[in-house]
Amino acid sequence: MDFAIQTRQLTVAYGAEPALWSVDVDIPLLGMTGIIGPNGAGKSTLLKAILGTVPTLSGRVELGAGDSSHGSSEIGYVPQRTGVDWDFPTSVLDLVMMGTYGRLKWFQRPGKNERAASMEALRQVQMDEFANRQIGELSVGQQKRVFIARAFVQQASIYLMDEPFAGVDAKTEKMLVEILHRLRDQGNTIVMVHHDLTTVTRYFDHVVLLNRTLVACGSTSEVFTSENIERAYGVPCKPTLDSP
Ligand code: ADP
Ligand code: MG
Repeated sequence: MDFAIQTRQLTVAYGAEPALWSVDVDIPLLGMTGIIGPNGAGKSTLLKAILGTVPTLSGRVELGAGDSSHGSSEIGYVPQRTGVDWDFPTSVLDLVMMGTYGRLKWFQRPGKNERAASMEALRQVQMDEFANRQIGELSVGQQKRVFIARAFVQQASIYLMDEPFAGVDAKTEKMLVEILHRLRDQGNTIVMVHHDLTTVTRYFDHVVLLNRTLVACGSTSEVFTSENIERAYGVPCKPTLDSP
C-alpha cells in the first residue's frame, strides 16, 4: 500500500506534558482517514505536526512521494475554527486567492487566471455568490466551504481538516461529505479530525484512534471496534454503528 503520510515515534510537547507520545501512524494515499479520540487526545496537534507548524520533540513525519501523475503533493489545511482570526478584514475571494500564491513566482501578483480559478473553486462549493463578503460574516458551514475552496485552488492532493463539521448543520455536513468523498474518489488523500462516533463507519475508509499515544490505526472495520474505542476513551463504550 502507498502512504501519503507516515509518522515514526512522533513526540510533541507544549510544556512538560507530551501532547503526543511516540506515535507511529500510516495514512494511506487513497481514501479518507478519520482521526478519532477524546478531547485533548492530541488530534489537532497531530495535524499541526504533519503540517510542520508545531515543533516536534523527537521522531519524524514523512510525506509520501504521492502520485506523480497527479501533479502535486501539496497539503491543503482546513483549520479548526479557533485557529483563525475571523475579524481580520478579508473577503471570501481574497481568502481563496491566497491558495494560489504557491503557484506564483515571487514577483507575480494574483491576476485574472488566479481570480477565475478561485471563482470556479467557490462555485464547486456553492459559495460563489458570497465572493465579496467578509469571512467573519459567514456561517460556520460557509467558512468551512471557503477553506475547502482554498485547498482546491492550491491544487492540494492531501487535505487536512480539523473537525470540519463542528457547528455545521446536518444539511451542510451532508454537502461537505459529498464534496470530500468526490475529492477522495478523484484520488486525493483526505485526513480529518472527527468527533462524532456515530458516523465513523459511514465516512471513513481508515481510522487513527488516538489518546496521546496511538491506540490503533488501519482500516475502519479492523480499527473501529468497541474494544479499541474503550481503550481510546477509557470508558466502556458500545460503538453506535449506523447503516449507510
Ligand atoms: P485535541 O485536538 O485532540 O482536542 P490538542 O491537540 O488540541 O487535542 O491538544 C492536546 C493537548 O495539548 C491538550 O492537553 C492541550 O491542552 C495541549 N495544547 C494544545 N495546544 C497547546 C498550546 N498551544 N500550548 C499549550 N498546550 C497546548
Ligand atoms: Mg482539536
